[in-house]
Amino acid sequence: MDYQAILNEIAEEIKPYMGRGKVADYIPILAEVDPMQFGMTVTMFDGTQYSVGDAETPFSIQSISKVFTFTLALDAYGYELYRRVGREPSGNPFNSLVQLEYEKGVPRNPFINAGAINVTDALISHYGSPAKASKEILAFIREIADNPAVESDKEVAESEMQHGFRNRALANLMKSFGNLDNDVIEVVHTYFEHCAIVMSTRTLSRAMLYLANHGIDPITAKKFITPQQAKRINAVMLTCGHYDASGDFAFQVGLPGKSGVGGGIVAVIPKKMAICVWSPALNEQGNSLSGTKALELFTTKTGYSIF
Ligand code: GLU
Repeated sequence: MDYQAILNEIAEEIKPYMGRGKVADYIPILAEVDPMQFGMTVTMFDGTQYSVGDAETPFSIQSISKVFTFTLALDAYGYELYRRVGREPSGNPFNSLVQLEYEKGVPRNPFINAGAINVTDALISHYGSPAKASKEILAFIREIADNPAVESDKEVAESEMQHGFRNRALANLMKSFGNLDNDVIEVVHTYFEHCAIVMSTRTLSRAMLYLANHGIDPITAKKFITPQQAKRINAVMLTCGHYDASGDFAFQVGLPGKSGVGGGIVAVIPKKMAICVWSPALNEQGNSLSGTKALELFTTKTGYSIF
């Protein structure tokens, strides 16, 4: 199949969608990003990459980092992890407090904010300190991306630290229910640091390969997680990866994936490839508008989906 030609076609066909949607502005520094950007990369199991558009431009990965922290926490805690965070779709906005209150401080899944903050807390306990947890999370992402240059953007983390009142509220609520081990401020700061990691569609699609291959990097043969755990992470991506639009994403695209408010979306086609698309303007549920459309076009044109 001529993937390059398909990506070129997609870049043309999404043009009418560019300019629609809205860049996330509740993290002030992200509001400054030019919405008219679009990049997409497909990475194959032998490392071959096909790209179109702004595929080298670094962007804030935001909630996509939750896939990697979930991987580390599942590796560290195994099934025990589900005592503190569930694995059901929330059907609620990603930063909702209401559900967390009536479910007694146990977040529905590791991809809504409360769940990801809880997973970060678990990693701080596992690694012994917030600084060590941040270091290990970054080291892991560099390893799966096979790129030692990946960094977290301090300015973005600070911007979120100054304005992340709702995330602090989620952490405080969990703490009040006894479902958070460490200091609230330290936990949210560590969480903001991994959300502020910056990558391009090229590096991020490379980083996702292990999830398309049962937990093993098909290029380096490194084993990051068991096949059972990889299966579960993919299942949670499919059912919970796109906030309260997860059902719609499964319906339109048909792949396990995860989006972030920076406008990135990753998706995997099991045993074949990993994909990353980025365009900063978001739809009402907080997912990249053109990015979602591009992935829908990709699965339609290739006929690849998990269904
Ligand atoms: N750091 C962002 C937040 O906590 C991540 C949100 C997202 O990408 O969905 O609000």
